[in-house]
Amino acid sequence: MFVTVAVNIPSEKTFSYSVPEALQQEIAIGKRALVPFGKRRLTGYIIEVSHLTGCEDVKEIIEILDFEPLFNEEDLKFYRWVSQYYIYPLGKALAEILPGGIDPKSDRWISITGKREERNDLQISAAQKCIIDTIDHFPGGLPLDRLKSLLGKKDISRDINALVGAGFIVVEERNGKPEITPKTEKLVHLNRQDIAITKLTRKQILITELLHSHGSCSVAALRKGFKNVMPLLRSLERRGIVCISEEEVSRGHGQNPDIGGGEAVITPNEDQEHALCEIVKGLQSSSFSPFLLHGVTGSGKTEVYLNAIAETLRMRGSVIFLIPEIALTPQLLTRFNRRFKGQELAVLHSGISKSARYDQWRRIQRGDINVVIGARSAVFAPVRNLKLIIVDEEHDTSYKQDDRMRYSARDLAIMKANLSLATVILGSATPAVQTYFNTMRGKYRYLVLPRRVEDRPLPKVEIIDMKREAEGSRHTSSHILSRALKEAIDDTLEKKHQALLFLNRRGSYTFTFCFDCGHVFRCLNCAVSMTYHASESNLKCHYCDYAMRPSTSCPACHGKRIRPYGVGTERLEEEVNKLFPHARIERMDSDTTSRKGAYEKILKALDRRDIDILIGTQMITKGHDFPYVTLVGVISADTSLNIPDFRASERTFQLLTQVSGRGGRGASPGRVIIQTFNPGHYAITRARDYDYMGFYDDELALRSALSYPPLTRIVNLQLSSLSREKGMEGLNGLRDFIADSLTKNKWKDKVEVIGPAESPIARIKARHRWQLLLKGKDARAVHNMAKDILSKASITALDIKVDVDPLNFM
Ligand SMILES: [Zn+2]
Ligand SMILES: [Zn+2]
Repeated sequence: MFVTVAVNIPSEKTFSYSVPEALQQEIAIGKRALVPFGKRRLTGYIIEVSHLTGCEDVKEIIEILDFEPLFNEEDLKFYRWVSQYYIYPLGKALAEILPGGIDPKSDRWISITGKREERNDLQISAAQKCIIDTIDHFPGGLPLDRLKSLLGKKDISRDINALVGAGFIVVEERNGKPEITPKTEKLVHLNRQDIAITKLTRKQILITELLHSHGSCSVAALRKGFKNVMPLLRSLERRGIVCISEEEVSRGHGQNPDIGGGEAVITPNEDQEHALCEIVKGLQSSSFSPFLLHGVTGSGKTEVYLNAIAETLRMRGSVIFLIPEIALTPQLLTRFNRRFKGQELAVLHSGISKSARYDQWRRIQRGDINVVIGARSAVFAPVRNLKLIIVDEEHDTSYKQDDRMRYSARDLAIMKANLSLATVILGSATPAVQTYFNTMRGKYRYLVLPRRVEDRPLPKVEIIDMKREAEGSRHTSSHILSRALKEAIDDTLEKKHQALLFLNRRGSYTFTFCFDCGHVFRCLNCAVSMTYHASESNLKCHYCDYAMRPSTSCPACHGKRIRPYGVGTERLEEEVNKLFPHARIERMDSDTTSRKGAYEKILKALDRRDIDILIGTQMITKGHDFPYVTLVGVISADTSLNIPDFRASERTFQLLTQVSGRGGRGASPGRVIIQTFNPGHYAITRARDYDYMGFYDDELALRSALSYPPLTRIVNLQLSSLSREKGMEGLNGLRDFIADSLTKNKWKDKVEVIGPAESPIARIKARHRWQLLLKGKDARAVHNMAKDILSKASITALDIKVDVDPLNFM
């Protein structure tokens, strides 16, 4: 018997191993095996089992690491597709997809050999002698990491190699325990009902009575009531009255919050009814049925989702429900629990502990749980009998993973539904241009919810031109808040309503510069300016977390006139506090919500109306529903317009529409004030008018003129290197390779190559960065060329990251 395994290494190759007799019963696709790999032992994922010979010269696998598979063949088909599509090796992709922390950690174990008697210390250096002396204290040897920490040195590999070469020490690979393993617990069950109680002690009678009424009980629970319970139980076990077994217990996601929304019973309106009817037809057809559910903010998309889930559960199918961020789960879970009492669900996202993710994953795989709610990675959940995938707020950028395996969960949801013949709903008030384009081309069916529930009006949006504001105002205090916005806040406070103020930059000042020579304080590791955080009196880099004390003089010219500039949420909070001293003000950004539960706490306070003004970054734009929020202020609409990305206008339109939609969800109408230096920009005016179609037409015309997606396909290859010189060298090699393959006519006229050029942020975390854009109408040609370049690039000194974005295969 042979198996093919994929291992977590940067190579597309997979490897064959033979299976020793003793392990053959346990072999299955989807289990992990420990395999010898060169001098190391690695974890491999079994992806094929065969009885064919023909590969005699292979090594044996060492151990099977799982009792049950982590995925089946159908899941594997999807994972393989993912790996090919994102040009990411299968073994690495599987390591990314499967729950983390489960692979055994490999330790290098160092011990002294028998040759110590003949050792001549003159042969070795002082440093090497020091190593030997340290190991001498450990007759059984010790792990390399431990040795390093004892010596207080990191780089000892040269000395270790010399000592191994001389035969004084040996280094072996040993496997430690994985971080996460299944959790078990001892359970006691009652065996016989007809017990002659006369033969039992009083305590034993109590125990049997307890078991009689409870069925079974954990030893841990019994221990609380009875001292020294184990001997009592063992004696009962010997007489056959009880049996004690070791059983796995599942660690849950531990999320049972209750955050308002003040939900009343909702009868679907006509539009919801129609959308639902189409979705149910899709579900019943048991064929791939993709939908775009385009509903304005507050139109009741969630109600449609919940009804579609109910229908799926009636059909005994499974559901994957994707939501943009951890941010959204508390409110949604509350609604879900109220609607589906007793329905078990798995919650998968980065805020859930690794062990709970592992346990839930296996229960999903077994088919024990058939509703999965989670952030982007939940799209990989190995659900059985998948019938429905929902991607809520499908336009949200958090569906895209931006490092390691760069995937888009929205696009994967489409592919997964396609492979499983399932229904998929992409829901949004502001569909991604790509999604709407696909819908217009007939790839997705279009469902629309054009009105808010109960016909509540959308808030009225006003645009404030901040250039004029600056001219008209003599106030030197600041131009953070326009007069109109200040008055609106006053008005809101008077009515005892609530206001949201949105600013997509955290910290106090986004940069600090020298007034005399223009020197800007930048991060040592990244090509970005440092943000001043007044609460910590620190300059901080938002890319690598490097922090330093702000200096009072300029390092370039020793000038003393250091000036901060560019307002962040912290500074905004300070300003609002000054202007409205009696208001209760909170700030919600990644600085104030880093502690566990902090986010929920702020939402609950907002729900109880303990907050009058909430200031925040894009966190506050996400789907919350608070009926007393009647004013939304956008401090600067220009922040997102100025990002170097062809989707900057799309992002701006989406952010403005989403944040506006937070207002006026209750009985009182809402009001939105947008401050900007670009009052005429179509992304802003179309957002003011809630005119999605108008925005789409403007945007598509522009993209078409510049041949940007969705009319073409772009693959962005990101290249980075610690050394600028080595990076440049690698780039030159790549240039030659590209020129060569273009002249050989392989991709000529099909792919346009732009770059490689420095990335918009030329350095992050000390790595120099370049990008190479491949552009063309023929998606396959672009993809194949990217693949070619990648295989070429991986042999250069560069550490290449590939960003396959955006996608329009489907
Ligand atoms: Zn200076
Ligand atoms: Zn930095």
